[in-house]
Amino acid sequence: MTACRNCGKKLTGDEIALHKRMIGRGENTFMCLPCLAEFFGCTEELLYKKIEHFKKSGCLLFCDAEK
Ligand SMILES: [Zn+2]
Repeated sequence: MTACRNCGKKLTGDEIALHKRMIGRGENTFMCLPCLAEFFGCTEELLYKKIEHFKKSGCLLFCDAEK
């Protein structure tokens, strides 16, 4: 199981993919969506929209996350 490096919450594939997409593929510890929102100083809603956007644009990170 992969957990958020900030709060220890169990991460979803989408959250890991978003972290990789927003921060970098080379990372091997990740943050959950609420912690990412705090890190970027944006709303969680905006990050959900970004996940949708990346999925629609066929980002390979998200395709991998769904397998
Ligand atoms: Zn967290």
